[in-house]
Amino acid sequence: MSRFLSGLYASLKEYVPGEQPQDKKYVKLNTNESPFPPSDGVIKAVTGEEVGKLCLYSDPESKLLKAKLAQNYSLEAKNVFVANGSDDILNFAFMAFARENGAAFPEISYGFYPVFAELYNVDSSIIPLEEDFSIDISKYLSCGKMVVIANPNAPTGMTLSREEIEKIISSNPDNVVLIDEAYVDFGGESVVDLVNKYDNLLVVQTFSKSRSMAGARLGFAFANEEIIKDLEKIKYSTNPYNINRLTQLMGVKALEEQEYYDSNCKKIIENREFTVAEIEKMGFFVLPSSANFIFARHEKIGGEKIYLSLKDKGVLVRHFSAEKIKDFNRITIATKEQMEVLIEKLQEIIKENSL
Ligand SMILES: *Cc1c(COP(=O)(O)O)cnc(C)c1O
Repeated sequence: MSRFLSGLYASLKEYVPGEQPQDKKYVKLNTNESPFPPSDGVIKAVTGEEVGKLCLYSDPESKLLKAKLAQNYSLEAKNVFVANGSDDILNFAFMAFARENGAAFPEISYGFYPVFAELYNVDSSIIPLEEDFSIDISKYLSCGKMVVIANPNAPTGMTLSREEIEKIISSNPDNVVLIDEAYVDFGGESVVDLVNKYDNLLVVQTFSKSRSMAGARLGFAFANEEIIKDLEKIKYSTNPYNINRLTQLMGVKALEEQEYYDSNCKKIIENREFTVAEIEKMGFFVLPSSANFIFARHEKIGGEKIYLSLKDKGVLVRHFSAEKIKDFNRITIATKEQMEVLIEKLQEIIKENSL
């Protein structure tokens, strides 16, 4: 720390992203990326001519992108916000909507929520999950704070139904209810359409998981027009050109090729069911997942040991050291071939540990 850093941030504990190794080639199952490349149109969109236009700023209004998102999700452009990854949107939302009343979110969820809460000195209710890792919605009803829930939740992969989410929204009319649907395309129930019914709902999604564009950084959100205006105000007060030209172009193309991404999601779901069945046979307990990852612990071998042994064997998964989940690993679902490698390596590890 330099002697210049504001005392406000001296004790801030920053978010720690999953490893992005640049040296060795791993079967990379640790940050929930898609194993599939972006669609053809996206790849072809980045021509020399488009790169040549980088001397010009990007469209700060992202008009084409917003129009396409509105069309695909049957809303209007005024209900759409886009940003540099959905992390950007979460950041803006904590900044804009949580400072007076505070925020409520699950103890075991996306690790960025408590970081944003701390960054903005937000009074947080960090609510434990139930014994079975589910979310008890009664703890979020009329809670007097901004509610932030990932649905499906991470790292559990478990979901709440639309009806449950709607109860949370309708019982908190004086606070924003932010539903982070980063993984919704892998089997969750979206509440995007409820944006027309509730003026306190903010639904956040991303191109990073189901749309194979984690490296392009593009997130989007849907809400009532007034919430969108608030987010725009924050964006224009921090970084108006926060989405670069190439990413905007690629985002539009991706939205024109939705069938490709739908078919990829289907494959991921099939591979998920295959993987769960296989590793359950090997003594793993797996939480019910509607996401592109599973959260699994072995009946005999510790989570960290499995993580380290897999890494040793060239397979990277995500291990969290928090006490309540230290026996688990979060494993991204990738191609069938990659899942077969995982299964083979897990079989080796089990053998090595039963000697
Ligand atoms: C991956 C993830 C995000 C962040 O996505 P980006 O759009 O890449 O910033 C947000 N929320 C959850 C729950 C995630 O897992």
